[in-house]
Amino acid sequence: MSSILIKNIRAVDNAVDITTDVLIKDGVIAEIGEGITASAEQTIDGTGLVLMPSLFDMHVHLRDPGFTHKEDVLTGCGAALAGGVTGVLAMPNTKPPCDNPETIRYIIDKANGTGVDVYPVGCITGGMSGNGLCDYEALKAAGCICISDDGRPVENAENMRKALELSNENGLLVASHCEDLSIINGGIINKGETSAKLGVKGMDRASEDYITAREMILASSVNARIHICHVSTEGSAAMIRFAKSRGVKVTCETAPHYFMLTDKLLEKRDADYRMNPPLRTPEDVKAIIEAVKDGTIDCIITDHAPHAAEEKADFEKAPNGVVGLETSLAATLTALYHTGEIDLHKVVELMCVNPRKILGLDIPSIKVGSTADLVIADINKKWTVEPEKLHSKSHNTVFKGMELTGKPLVTISKGEIRYNEM
Ligand SMILES: [Zn+2]
Ligand SMILES: [Zn+2]
Repeated sequence: MSSILIKNIRAVDNAVDITTDVLIKDGVIAEIGEGITASAEQTIDGTGLVLMPSLFDMHVHLRDPGFTHKEDVLTGCGAALAGGVTGVLAMPNTKPPCDNPETIRYIIDKANGTGVDVYPVGCITGGMSGNGLCDYEALKAAGCICISDDGRPVENAENMRKALELSNENGLLVASHCEDLSIINGGIINKGETSAKLGVKGMDRASEDYITAREMILASSVNARIHICHVSTEGSAAMIRFAKSRGVKVTCETAPHYFMLTDKLLEKRDADYRMNPPLRTPEDVKAIIEAVKDGTIDCIITDHAPHAAEEKADFEKAPNGVVGLETSLAATLTALYHTGEIDLHKVVELMCVNPRKILGLDIPSIKVGSTADLVIADINKKWTVEPEKLHSKSHNTVFKGMELTGKPLVTISKGEIRYNEM
């Protein structure tokens, strides 16, 4: 095992903020303090840089097995490391869907040795069909900590309630993609001024709001936990805030594009700006930022959803989704930190601490003895997102051509440098 000495760095977690030297040895933080003289195999000058716990992204699509022309476990993990991420939840809409122990084990085995802890999410229902609940005990035994039919809702409310009840007994978190398909009815972007102007079918926000409300009602009726995926509307955020105030065991996430961008971008008729839920309005963006600030929204995820360029070529027929692993920290720093909306402790809480807390995983921190899952970032570095330079197999980023401020430079996983652009 290697040893790394980081000199003169600003070390930040959700509680600590100090400028110091940090010695990493045998996979853990061995010493913190000014003027450490111990010799190490690698020394990094951290002057002007920030050291923080590595990110955990609890919503990514690695596309493996079945769609490896878009991404595979190895390239997805490469993209994660380039974004400062050392742990992910991998969504189950693969081929075959991740509704069985064999597929779970395949993903875990393939990720072994990459430096990224990949937790495959199991399906709620067999084949994500909405019917026939999976064997949650078997999924858990194979390594599952969370279940979801992400990409789809479980349409039948009673099936969802049973799933919540059973998963709760098994200690599994249920993550819900909140969308009513009968309301969506073929919509491809947010229903509003832009969809009318473009003459394309819109996705009514009622689709998201309705299922968000349904899931919280169902969860509270069986006293189970529910995690609401990718919150994008003012209405959903308000209802989650209310449910939390009533003691409902709800947690939720949003993605950088929902607090940075609006559906106006769709005027370009470029499918790279299409995802599900869709980009919404300036009022929604404002409400999502408020919900992040007041703790209604627990974490920032990416919903990293790679698609090949050919698949994204046709504006109306293209599949939904955008990549995000390599831009999430930069986008969050740009939109929330550099604008003064949140401080660095809050960034750590949203991207490093809360996802792991929700999933019951160990939380790395800046203290002696903590696992050295860390990222070194230049929080002031300005860079322009060039899609072809991304490590992901797919380049469908919503931030293409945008200047962001802040960049992960070194990613350390269990004491080993796994990404380094210093
Ligand atoms: Zn989803
Ligand atoms: Zn997703």
